[in-house]
Amino acid sequence: MIANADIKIEKTTHSRVNEYDVNDVPFGKCFSDHMFIAEYANGKWEKSYITPYKDVPMSFAMSALHYGQAIFEGMKAYKNAEGEVSIFRPLENFKRLNKSAIRMAMPEVPEEIFMGGLLELLKLDAAWVPTSESGSLYIRPFLIATDEAIGVKASDTYKFIIITCPAGKYYSEPIKVLIETNYIRAVQGGVGFVKAAGNYGRSLYPTKLAQQKGYQQVIWTDGATHSFLEESGTMNLIFVIGNTVVTPALSDTILAGITRDSVLALAREWGMGVEERKISITEILEAHAAGTLKEAFGVGTAATIAQIIGIGYKEDYYPLPAVEERKFSNKVDETLRAIRKGKAADTLGWMFKVK
Ligand SMILES: *Cc1c(COP(=O)(O)O)cnc(C)c1O
Repeated sequence: MIANADIKIEKTTHSRVNEYDVNDVPFGKCFSDHMFIAEYANGKWEKSYITPYKDVPMSFAMSALHYGQAIFEGMKAYKNAEGEVSIFRPLENFKRLNKSAIRMAMPEVPEEIFMGGLLELLKLDAAWVPTSESGSLYIRPFLIATDEAIGVKASDTYKFIIITCPAGKYYSEPIKVLIETNYIRAVQGGVGFVKAAGNYGRSLYPTKLAQQKGYQQVIWTDGATHSFLEESGTMNLIFVIGNTVVTPALSDTILAGITRDSVLALAREWGMGVEERKISITEILEAHAAGTLKEAFGVGTAATIAQIIGIGYKEDYYPLPAVEERKFSNKVDETLRAIRKGKAADTLGWMFKVK
């Protein structure tokens, strides 16, 4: 068990949960009653506490704002029919946060702080976890550099914070994606494999240009040759070609998504061929022409599966098979939903009970 005796808890005297219908709130703008904070200074994690969610004064000189030592995670908690709350694979997020921390010269967060804080927070805010069929509580842990100092160096002080917000009826619209061959998301030796805040700021402008052309997202290509597909927006990219599930192999330009890993695990369980390797633009266009490109979708915590209904490349548009015909991704979506809501056996041990 995780020791959590040293988390100081200040409960709210006025829960806001009844002011909302948690099954029907706009995503990402309504935060639950409490937040968890751990503070790092003098070379160690000094204290951790839970307080009512609120604004906290911070200096405009705070180093995270200027030099980008800021990393985050995203995961979800679900409620089953009995009202019990479970988190989907949180230890994977814990490990990935620390991978990001190392790359960004930040201190690692100990497991008892990450998991202890998370579990205490969810116990307090269990009423904020939606009960609806597709609802979840989105959890945003993040680590920021807090030195009040201008000057490029690794900060001496940090805060690790967890906030949460209900995602009532998350429905992900099918998307059209444009293959991007000018701007780059990640380069070899860079930080594409970690969830560093700067990766997202840099993606907004190319995405805006794609949106002006009628697409919702870009497909990023490799920085060296622009001929291999990497990710779709902030999601991993998966194709079904013939009967084989194909996805770009992990590298330092690709984020190791937990949804990606889960989808591949299910595919393997179901006896499908799974290939993690390079995928060229040419291969996808040829598969499209031959009629073997059956499915294309992005995967990530926010949407689980975002169906790609068409791909743009240069001046051409390649429509893909109807979403209803996509056996694999639809089955994955249903299976993950059932496991998360406690309606199917959790044979792979993915649900972490909050109790
Ligand atoms: C977070 C993220 C993903 C998806 O990761 P999950 O663990 O499945 O949520 C994929 N690509 C990028 C760039 C991401 O930031």
